[in-house]
Amino acid sequence: MFNNLSEKLDKALHVLKGHGSITEVNVAETLKEVRRALLDADVNFKIAKEFTNRVKEKALGQNVLTTLQPGQLMVKIVKDELTELMGGDAAGINLSGKPTVILMSGLQGSGKTTFSGKLANFLKNKKTKKPLLVACDVYRPAAVDQLHVVGEQIKVDVYSDKGNTDPVAIAKAGIAHAKENGHNVVIIDTAGRLAVDEAMMTEISNIHKAIEPQETLFVVDSMTGQDAVNTAKAFNDVLNFDGVILTKLDGDTRGGAAISIKSVVDKPIKFIGTGEKMEAIDIFYPSRMADRILG
Ligand code: GDP
Repeated sequence: MFNNLSEKLDKALHVLKGHGSITEVNVAETLKEVRRALLDADVNFKIAKEFTNRVKEKALGQNVLTTLQPGQLMVKIVKDELTELMGGDAAGINLSGKPTVILMSGLQGSGKTTFSGKLANFLKNKKTKKPLLVACDVYRPAAVDQLHVVGEQIKVDVYSDKGNTDPVAIAKAGIAHAKENGHNVVIIDTAGRLAVDEAMMTEISNIHKAIEPQETLFVVDSMTGQDAVNTAKAFNDVLNFDGVILTKLDGDTRGGAAISIKSVVDKPIKFIGTGEKMEAIDIFYPSRMADRILG
């Protein structure tokens, strides 16, 4: 994951990690290289610049150059700032509500259906949760079938209503079905489009208003780089969602989305998808991710 970024940051911090003498000049040079590495990883220019400025300020504030191990302290400052940039502490999901209603949003192909299954499986394994998956894509019958396949695979019930063209009605009926059948979590998979468009935004917004979910999650493909951040912004403007799911982190993604999304929409990344299998889901821990990136 993020091999390229890790390598570049490792190279940038090489001098500091060694035991040579550390001067103001090589600290400045290092920060320039850190910024370059972030830009190469698809981090937005402003975010990368603010990041290195913050590291510099902290280093000055802590009089890094006069400390016993200036290099190590600098590396720690970079790691702490990277953790902070990605969200600080891990964010849980709100499981209140009877049942808890979780609404999935995102573009087509982002991994919504796959993640809905992964989350259902993750919650089901907690034993106290009995999830229901609800198929609200009224445009693509194949999407409904896909959710049924996923449900069978993880042995979780799926509610769908194939002839119905009203996603709000399906979502409501799904929640009613959950109440009647003892499901305490309802995960609502919705239709996406290939790009942000008004009809999709109106539809998801109508579903959101009608069902008042405890959690609205935005699913985004991390391989889409800076576009991931722009799409997140568009969905957040309409839904004011609660958290981000970053999928396909197992692929050759450069990492920019993971690093910048929190500072653009000010919402935490809650889970990551790391493969096509139902088990390929992880809670997102910013500090672990920073450790992984910085080695
Ligand atoms: P949806 O249109 O948003 O519902 O997206 P899907 O759930 O159908 O996913 C689109 C494609 O991405 C499918 O081929 C999935 O198997 C794949 N996919 C989803 N999540 C991941 C992931 O975390 N890693 C990888 N490698 N593939 C994923």
